[in-house]
Amino acid sequence: MPLVSMRQLLDEAAKGGYGVGAFNVNDMEQIQAIMEAAMETQSPVIIQASRGARAFAQDRYLFHLILAASELYPEIPIAMHQDHGNSFETCKSAIELGFTSVMMDGSLKEDGKTPTSFEENVEVTRKVVEYAHPRGVTVEGEIGVLGGIEDGHGAGGTGLEHVTDPDQAVEFAERTGVDALAIAIGTSHGAYKFTKKPDGSVLKMDLLIEIHNRLPHTHLVMHGSSSVPKELQDIVNEYGGKLKETWGVPVEEIQLGIRNGVRKINVDTDNRLAITGAIRKVLWTQPEKFDPRDYMKPARDAMHKVVAQRMTQFGQAGHAGDYAPIAISEIAKGYADGSLSTQPLIAAK
Ligand SMILES: [Zn+2]
Repeated sequence: MPLVSMRQLLDEAAKGGYGVGAFNVNDMEQIQAIMEAAMETQSPVIIQASRGARAFAQDRYLFHLILAASELYPEIPIAMHQDHGNSFETCKSAIELGFTSVMMDGSLKEDGKTPTSFEENVEVTRKVVEYAHPRGVTVEGEIGVLGGIEDGHGAGGTGLEHVTDPDQAVEFAERTGVDALAIAIGTSHGAYKFTKKPDGSVLKMDLLIEIHNRLPHTHLVMHGSSSVPKELQDIVNEYGGKLKETWGVPVEEIQLGIRNGVRKINVDTDNRLAITGAIRKVLWTQPEKFDPRDYMKPARDAMHKVVAQRMTQFGQAGHAGDYAPIAISEIAKGYADGSLSTQPLIAAK
């Protein structure tokens, strides 16, 4: 199956009432782990690369590895997504390379650290939409600022410093025409999200529900949404790691989000923990090993297991065969003739 538009994946998810995990990749084994899990659970999937990943792997390698995945698994719809584009140029280069979806994170300046004004965010995001949609490429925007830092991207601090204002979310969706909207509800990037199991004082699910009620047809995106399970932390620490105790976003909160308009859920940390735990275990218990396959294979298997579990929990499992891919050129026509509306349906306050 050719790579598909993320918009199509998310529209289908909205129809089916489920969420789609967006998993970050930096190398071949991570792509293989995701595809094995997608095949096992028959899930459509979003594979995403951050700027850091594109630099680490050389993005052309990643692009061709993901294309290889689409050839090997023709029955699985795959969207290839740029995670946290920091500028129009970053998004443009991803589109030129062949990504079918980009995130323009205009909540931060191009340095990836300093929060922007609302007007600056609208302006740069609108510019990306005007470039992407005629090419059939999906655009995700962000309003409000996530906490933490990952891959050198983020304002730092807690997730509560710049939570999304619902009025701004509505105006932002209207003025930019984004297909999907990432909102800040208290979550952070990286492993250290919460210092205890989060409750409503730090994880603002009520705010998410309010935004969904105001923007019922806009696909919402949860970032910083690894669950950081204790079992994965324990494996790392059992074999010589030194992770401090931490809490992520409980799966049941993500499922509440999915019942309220969340269609894309970003997961990276859980996979990083699974991989690192598996590698540590081999090196710690079998110090005579030196063939990278001896630890990369268990690492890949550990990530496969986490991804398959999330696919089932998010509800995307079993939906790979629901629809045929729409060609990107047809998606572009849909934006042009208005049949693929980007004007949000807005509910009264
Ligand atoms: Zn993010």
